[in-house]
Amino acid sequence: GATIGVLGGGQLGRMLSVAAARLGYRSHIFEPGAAPAADVAADTTRAPYEDGEALEAFARSVDVVTFEFENVPAEALDRIEALRPLRPNRKALAVSQDRLHEKDFLCGLGLATAPYRNVESEDDLQRAVEALGCPSILKTRRLGYDGKGQVRLAAATDVPEAYAAMQGAPALLEGFVDFSMEISVIAARGVSGEVACFDPGQNLHEGGILRRTTVPAPIPARLRTDAVLLAGRILNALDYVGVLGVELFVTPAGLVVNEIAPRVHNSGHWTQNGCAVDQFEQHIRAVAGWPLGDGSRYADVVMENLIGDDMDRVPELASTPSTALHLYGKAETRPGRKMGHANHVSPKTD
Ligand code: ATP
Ligand code: MG
Ligand code: MG
Repeated sequence: GATIGVLGGGQLGRMLSVAAARLGYRSHIFEPGAAPAADVAADTTRAPYEDGEALEAFARSVDVVTFEFENVPAEALDRIEALRPLRPNRKALAVSQDRLHEKDFLCGLGLATAPYRNVESEDDLQRAVEALGCPSILKTRRLGYDGKGQVRLAAATDVPEAYAAMQGAPALLEGFVDFSMEISVIAARGVSGEVACFDPGQNLHEGGILRRTTVPAPIPARLRTDAVLLAGRILNALDYVGVLGVELFVTPAGLVVNEIAPRVHNSGHWTQNGCAVDQFEQHIRAVAGWPLGDGSRYADVVMENLIGDDMDRVPELASTPSTALHLYGKAETRPGRKMGHANHVSPKTD
């Protein structure tokens, strides 16, 4: 049997491994940190990305390599790509590792994004604030997630403090998008170029962290179509293989792309209990060269993240009918840490 290599052993790597096991594959996880979740269904190598020998041994032990985490260092990817196919490809990674490249790429496709300016000095930030106005959001170009590495500017007088918060890291100033709703599309593209999208979900964030995703998103059919077509354009432009998450703002002028994630996505966890083929199986199908599942939705679902002390609610959730629990097996509960999620399922209405 074939083996799927996964870079990153957090909950996404874990759920990918479980899906791979269901399709008859073994998985081998490469985990550079202390992520605790994935070895439930996979062999695991724990070593830093700088350990070239461990990385090459990992690559040789698998047939194809994918990832749950987009910030793998370029040198590590070079070593892997010399030995095994990497899916999705380097271009998708390069574009989504850097918010400036990502915005340039999206605008190049003719898609709408927040207005943005590159910021490499306090002067740059001053000029960017003059151009884009306030409120605006300063984000590190690389490595941010769950709202980390972001500062909001309410007025031009916030410039020095906001710039200092970046600690010298290259950053991007984004004009504030006045959205009525956040939605996301989980989209997939197969080796032969076919595309399948899941229905857009509505996302609610609290403190920069995804709290809930609701499908169907309460948006007109026209916007659902726009969202899915736009995701397809991104996939094709990247010659993408695998699952991609596209975060969107709904505005009076139409859809604005916030960011893309070249991997399975937290806002796609509802597919585990709303679809015949969920995003994890879809991703494994794509990277293993299978035909894609169709993405049809058979239920309405509210996906609720279990963050930190939300774990106290597990006994109650476990005895709630039509709620499916997905727990990540993390030993330690910390504030702001994603510990699991619950999918609340009901009959399809729309
Ligand atoms: P993730 O965990 O999704 O990767 P992240 O740290 O990359 O998060 P973003 O998605 O850039 O952060 O922003 C987090 C949230 O902040 C967005 O979902 C949105 O609610 C808000 N936000 C970000 N950028 C803007 C903007 N330009 N205008 C208005 N709101 C914004
Ligand atoms: Mg992000
Ligand atoms: Mg985001």
